[in-house]
Amino acid sequence: MKRGMVLGMLLAIGALATIKAQPPAANAPKVIEVEKLKDNLYVLRGANGGGNTAVFVRADGVAVVDAKNPGWGKPILDKIKELTGKPVTTIINTHTHYDHVSGNVEFPATVDVIVQENTKANMERMGPVLGREAATSGPNIFKEHGGVGLPKRTFKDRMTIGKGADQIDLYYFGRGHTNGDAFVVFPALRVMHAGDIFARKGPPLLDANNGGSGTAIGDTLAKAHAAVKGIDRIITGHSTVMTWADLDEYSKFNKDFLAWVTAAMKSGKTVDAAAAEYAIPQSYTGYTPNADQTKSNIGVIYNELKK
Ligand SMILES: [Zn+2]
Repeated sequence: MKRGMVLGMLLAIGALATIKAQPPAANAPKVIEVEKLKDNLYVLRGANGGGNTAVFVRADGVAVVDAKNPGWGKPILDKIKELTGKPVTTIINTHTHYDHVSGNVEFPATVDVIVQENTKANMERMGPVLGREAATSGPNIFKEHGGVGLPKRTFKDRMTIGKGADQIDLYYFGRGHTNGDAFVVFPALRVMHAGDIFARKGPPLLDANNGGSGTAIGDTLAKAHAAVKGIDRIITGHSTVMTWADLDEYSKFNKDFLAWVTAAMKSGKTVDAAAAEYAIPQSYTGYTPNADQTKSNIGVIYNELKK
């Protein structure tokens, strides 16, 4: 290879690296990427779009799980039009966070919005997220849109929508990421959308401002893993599609963390000292550390254990 060509390639790679390092501006084009899980089930993602969206095409319409950040409702609707001619009839929000519910307001007001009952109360408030106060203390997006996108139907522990190939089962197993985390199951397809109670392999966001709990999350995940049957793949809140065994492991990861933090508190360590010392156990391969989140979570668990 000629020197000039090599230099040109290096420059091109350098330019790409620079582009990748910069977060897209708020007005950057909202590009939806589609992952097809089944002929009638898709995962929609987008850079800076927020949580993973599931699109489930049923006989008489489309059910959407989570609607991403503000401004992403329209791009989701446009992408769905490329996938099917059927109208969106239902939105299910896995929990209250802005990066999962804000797109709701861009859907037709006739769409049925279904959530766990605590999430309905949280969405009516849209209070700040613990640790993300700067980004989440603005006005309630639903109030700004005259209540469009707010839940119309709720469930407490369990709800089934439709039957056969169209069936959706909704479950609530207790507090975790918030106090209203829904597990959304498509039994005919053997797929679950777990939302942010299983966002990724790493420390969870324990949003104590919205009922989240570090003493409960491991048990809640274990209950889901024990109670729901026949699932092969899990759509996570923000990461790749995971396996059923990954959910079991994530439950254990959170239980191990609780045990570690409980011992740290008993030994008299401050939150800061415990946070400086914690490392993800080697046995959890593929887990990404997050020092800020870990410190916040230790604080949440200390507060819960003091009660
Ligand atoms: Zn969340």
